[in-house]
Amino acid sequence: MKNKVLVIVAHADDETLGCGGTLLKHRDNGDEVVIIFMTDGIGARNPEKNGSEEKLRMQAQKNVCAQLNVKKFYNFSFPDNRMDSVTLIDVVQEIEKVLHIQQPSIIYTHHGGDLNIDHRIVHQAVMTACRPQPNSSVHTILSFEVNSSTEWASENMGGHFIPNYYVDISSFIKEKEQLLNLYADEMRVYPHSRSIEAVMNLNKLRGNSVGLQAAEAFMLLRQIIVI
Ligand SMILES: [Zn+2]
Repeated sequence: MKNKVLVIVAHADDETLGCGGTLLKHRDNGDEVVIIFMTDGIGARNPEKNGSEEKLRMQAQKNVCAQLNVKKFYNFSFPDNRMDSVTLIDVVQEIEKVLHIQQPSIIYTHHGGDLNIDHRIVHQAVMTACRPQPNSSVHTILSFEVNSSTEWASENMGGHFIPNYYVDISSFIKEKEQLLNLYADEMRVYPHSRSIEAVMNLNKLRGNSVGLQAAEAFMLLRQIIVI
């Protein structure tokens, strides 16, 4: 049976950093993948360069979605790095609208203890929007890690990321690297945690932790199975 997958991220590039290899597997499986990008991912860092950077990132996002065979994606315009200035219920309601339309079964989103405030708020909003009410389509919720946000947080920001779910991406690691190259402007120079080499290293480490060449690691937050 084909899966209906919804990825909910704060910024364009989080989906590739966190679960790009897994999304490539969903693509090859013929699953339907939809992505929500909650912010434009630009404003707070370089307001003076808004126009040109935004264009580059939007183009990168389009190219990545094309390679992932993502036919539908939503660009919300919540304020970048300032999602704490928005009332949580407003964020929840936007996600609920998409859940209603798309009826996904699997959700991928941020870890609730990331350093980045947008990541934490998106996590909270997703967990609220996906509360397990009768007739909810969602049966699995997974959170992923994002280099230079997940491991840079303190325990008090929402708890450490402790993976308990691994996806083997050994056959997709090269293609994940290509996806990251599409976001070259967002990547830093090695040995920065957000360098392409560091992401590859993390995926190798996660794989090696469970006897694989490369893996993406997740925390399984909820799974409903009817046997
Ligand atoms: Zn992000």
